Amino acid sequence: MTSATAAATNAIQHTHQQQNEYMKGFHDLLKIPSISTDPAYKAEVERCANWIVDEMKRIGLRNASAIPTSGHPVVYGEWLEAGADKPTILLYAHYDVQPVDPLALWDTPPFEPSVREGRLYARGVCDDKAAVWGILKSVESMMAANGTLPVNIKVFFEGEEESGSPSMEPFIVANKDMLKADLFLICDGGFDPGNPEQIYAVRGIVGIEVTVTGPDHDLHSGMFGGVVQNPLHVVGKIIGSFHDEAGRVQIAGYYDRVKALSASEKANLDALFDPQIEDLKKKAGVSHFWAESLGTLAERGTALPTLDVNGMWGGYQGEGTKTVLPAQASFKATLRLVPDQDPYEIGRLLNQHVQQFASDTISIQTRVSGEGWPCAFLFEGPVVDALNQSYFTTIGKTPKWMRIGGSIPISGMFQRELDAPMSGFGFGAGDNYHSPNEYLILDHFRDSMDTFIHFMYKLAEPGVVS
Ligand SMILES: [Zn+2]
Repeated sequence: MTSATAAATNAIQHTHQQQNEYMKGFHDLLKIPSISTDPAYKAEVERCANWIVDEMKRIGLRNASAIPTSGHPVVYGEWLEAGADKPTILLYAHYDVQPVDPLALWDTPPFEPSVREGRLYARGVCDDKAAVWGILKSVESMMAANGTLPVNIKVFFEGEEESGSPSMEPFIVANKDMLKADLFLICDGGFDPGNPEQIYAVRGIVGIEVTVTGPDHDLHSGMFGGVVQNPLHVVGKIIGSFHDEAGRVQIAGYYDRVKALSASEKANLDALFDPQIEDLKKKAGVSHFWAESLGTLAERGTALPTLDVNGMWGGYQGEGTKTVLPAQASFKATLRLVPDQDPYEIGRLLNQHVQQFASDTISIQTRVSGEGWPCAFLFEGPVVDALNQSYFTTIGKTPKWMRIGGSIPISGMFQRELDAPMSGFGFGAGDNYHSPNEYLILDHFRDSMDTFIHFMYKLAEPGVVS
């Protein structure tokens, strides 16, 4: 029996030997315009799904099929013959791509893959067909070189990530058994050997639109000012009630489920963020940051929830004065949430808070929407060590482990429904995601596959995935 290291090396050698062959197949995948958001491409998305299913069957995955959803099909395939003592890893990527406009800014057509100076240009080449292809070709090489895989795998390729994943929640809820795994790997991200980063936590989000209504039409302030309550003033009061002087959000229960950072996590994040403070101030165009008593910049920017009013309107905004007492005034706000806040619960708390300002002279309508779950992948422990070691073996560096302040709602939804530990792995070694001239750096892509193969063998070692 070959050792795990020898087996990984054999598989990696195989990917290198097959490089030309593999690239031909990659080009064929990239030629299919699987744009999920535009209904005109529905048949192409389906063609792409079926093309991948054929490829899965060819390389030996079992039960490969394009499973219909209420939107675009999910592509699924599995190989569960590594043994009951080996963990089952669910590998997620998406095969749909962003639209291509503005087309005029592409140097070569987006669905005619083109190699120039070691870069492969095509729509979706990084985001996220690099992961689709990287996974399939790594699996093919591991099988070809060693006749088996080190772990059991379930491969799950989504077809509507770029259009907001409208069918994913019902699909996952209906297919929990099929998707059950010991570790869930989200393969939708970058691989930059110059500055490797591993994003392991994103915030959730929820939005609210509030309309405050007083009189049933605009009134003359000379006649009714001081007599009829002014909705704009109420909007001001509501917004003013959101934070205390320190910047802490004042909605009852808001922080109840907020998980504090562990000491090691906080130290890691502070070390990443502190050196950037001056740069970030410049980027923001401010001389001072706010709410500093609540936590460090890293904590406030990634690990604490926020509430920001994004717009407010009502009354007269033209030239000169107009003595109007407006009938209505409104605002919109979004809240960035952190583990373990529940966007639906926070939406209810927010609504309750706002409704306190209703009275017999004022009515308040709210619309809560855009709920997205926060998510935190593994940050420490044997899986993280395995990933660090795999990076180090391939590129001589380990990634920076980052939380980000933004949101990727689908990962939180997966986490909540599938209840498996999660981590991420990026194959997208390039740039211009979602933009013209999206490209993949081919050398780096090869490095990402090497790293991935090392990682798969490390995950098979006893005790790494429990
Ligand atoms: Zn993506």
